[in-house]
Amino acid sequence: MLNKAPRGTKDILPKEVYKWHFVEDKFKEVCSIFRYEEIRTPVFEHTELFERGVGDTTDIVQKEMYSFKDKGDRSLTLKPEGTAGVIRAFIENKMYSDVQPTKFFYMTPCFRYERPQAGRQREFHQFGIEALGSDTPSLDAEVISLAIQFFSELGIEDLIVSLNSVGCPNCRKEYDKVLRAYLESKKEVLCETCNERMVKNPMRVIDCKVPTCKENIKDIPYMLDYLCDDCREHFELLQKYLEEMNINYKIDKTIVRGLDYYRKTAFEIIADDLGAQSTVCAGGRYDGLVEQIGGPKGISGIGFGLGVERLLLLLENKNNEIITPDGADIFIVTIGDEAKLKSFGILSELRKNHITADKDHVDRSVKAQFKYSDKVNAKYTVVIGEDELKNDYVSLKNMNTSEQKNIKLSNLVEELKNLLNK
Ligand code: ATP
Ligand code: MG
Repeated sequence: MLNKAPRGTKDILPKEVYKWHFVEDKFKEVCSIFRYEEIRTPVFEHTELFERGVGDTTDIVQKEMYSFKDKGDRSLTLKPEGTAGVIRAFIENKMYSDVQPTKFFYMTPCFRYERPQAGRQREFHQFGIEALGSDTPSLDAEVISLAIQFFSELGIEDLIVSLNSVGCPNCRKEYDKVLRAYLESKKEVLCETCNERMVKNPMRVIDCKVPTCKENIKDIPYMLDYLCDDCREHFELLQKYLEEMNINYKIDKTIVRGLDYYRKTAFEIIADDLGAQSTVCAGGRYDGLVEQIGGPKGISGIGFGLGVERLLLLLENKNNEIITPDGADIFIVTIGDEAKLKSFGILSELRKNHITADKDHVDRSVKAQFKYSDKVNAKYTVVIGEDELKNDYVSLKNMNTSEQKNIKLSNLVEELKNLLNK
């Protein structure tokens, strides 16, 4: 127990953290190009926020949350997704009274109690964006295009955008009647969960993964066929914008967001080669959410969440090379105790000049120091021995060419800066 990380969590070790830096930097860069600004919200929130903001009929709230009582007897929950906290912060800081839209991005760990497997963990990470304060379809198109540009800049071009509309309370009323009548007739052949959802949140039945349920609802009515004029126009305009940007999409009537505050656009970005966990990014419009969690009426929003572990799996599967970080610029090899002491002054001077430098800390022999210098991929090795100390110079070895030359100590920093283009 003591020396094992909790089930469903993973250490990100130094040997792979560069991949995380790479995708994080890329995401920040793309968000900044689209003028989305970073927001950081707490890792835990009041449990009620997620019950309301994610929806108490969802799997997340019903089965997957890490909730606990703190010492003050408050019920808190580790965030299972990124949106609710961002919306809470938007309301709490009255950002709706600023010039709109407000465009956020975030990078956050998320926590869900699920069965761990490839691309599914209990602690995982999401990149996400939220654009609030406008209900025009161009914003939906922008949100989707940001995700696509991000993937594209990572060399991932063959993803499928699946697009749907889940309507609005207006058209959903009519659909709801038809859907409920249909489901009533299937009651006997659907699973227990479907029977529960049927009552509280019937659209979610479409999401059921049980094969017999899937088979039995093959002719289920879909929201897309019941859209009101306003929702239909929004959906059509969104497609025009996507076409204008040459973004490939396909319409998938089965993408559902069953809750009241989800409106119109719902989309998923799918990678066929990720197996069962193929949705790498999912999002949609949530025009009723701000009001649902206590904010003013009529503030629209749209966003997506993107699974970072799945993104990295995808990059791995595609063999998309992430450039490994540079090794050390300089490794200092010392011969004798006096050189060991003196080398610290030199090391410190190099570091102050932003030259990546290191030296031995475990009393290696000279030979072993050279070997280690190779291991840390040093571009140059600086050698300091007795003679060097006496005559104020160091010997510099280019580790690539094995060329060696002597450099006056007082010129070392300047010379290295030149050699390293710093
Ligand atoms: P799934 O159907 O795979 O469970 P979801 O609908 O629960 O996904 P969302 O809540 O839409 O997922 O989260 C957005 C993205 O976060 C997903 O598309 C996926 O890439 C990622 N994600 C969700 N749950 C996990 C998890 N347990 N481990 C790793 N990534 C996850
Ligand atoms: Mg899930």
